[in-house]
Amino acid sequence: MTSRAEQQMAFVFALRQRGVKDKRVLEAMEKIDRGEFVKGLFSERSYEDMPLPIACGQTISQPSVVGIMTQALDVQPRHKVLEVGTGSGYQAAILSQLARRVYTVDRHKRLVDEAQAVFDKLGLTNITTLAADGTRGLPEQAPFDRIIVTAAAEDTPGPLLAELKVGGIMVLPVGQSDAVQSLIKVTRTETGYDYDELLPVRFVPLLDGMGQD
Ligand code: SAH
Repeated sequence: MTSRAEQQMAFVFALRQRGVKDKRVLEAMEKIDRGEFVKGLFSERSYEDMPLPIACGQTISQPSVVGIMTQALDVQPRHKVLEVGTGSGYQAAILSQLARRVYTVDRHKRLVDEAQAVFDKLGLTNITTLAADGTRGLPEQAPFDRIIVTAAAEDTPGPLLAELKVGGIMVLPVGQSDAVQSLIKVTRTETGYDYDELLPVRFVPLLDGMGQD
């Protein structure tokens, strides 16, 4: 049986090896215990660098992908951030360490409620959870300094582009759900949008409308 300290060292080592170098991101990921966000059978694999199943047929992302996306997002302490795809709440919890406020939405109310319970337990008070279809954005809180989408769309949703501030950054996987997708970084400029392709990834699909539970 490996100790928690050894697990933690291996966890951070895997992040660094995959290119997560940003000190603030690494600190946030050391502080937030992924084990709080993985339930049941899979909890003993919480510190391995792999995606794991969560409720509603969804997945908690691979830690190194969370790290790479968070690093690419370049979150600053005064930022207001939108996450589409709360899932387990793990990514939102990492963002909460770096931003002023995080809004996170999921189309499954059950996931939102479970994530909120973990945020309450951990005392993460700067996260607002909402059960909503994130493809429509979150007009009542827009614009955002940063937007992160943790489910794959075939195209960047127009409302999300519109809700990004000038100078703002959005990170999202783009591509078909049953194929390898590209992680994209979109930067809004005065005149339009710049697109950078970061790396191949695999995410569950971004779906229209609300989920069943
Ligand atoms: N960021 C999560 C992983 C998310 S998995 C974590 O850290 O655990 C992707 C999530 O996107 C799923 O929970 C799924 O329900 C959600 N999702 C898919 N389409 C959506 C939509 N249109 N609006 C909001 N959430 C959506």
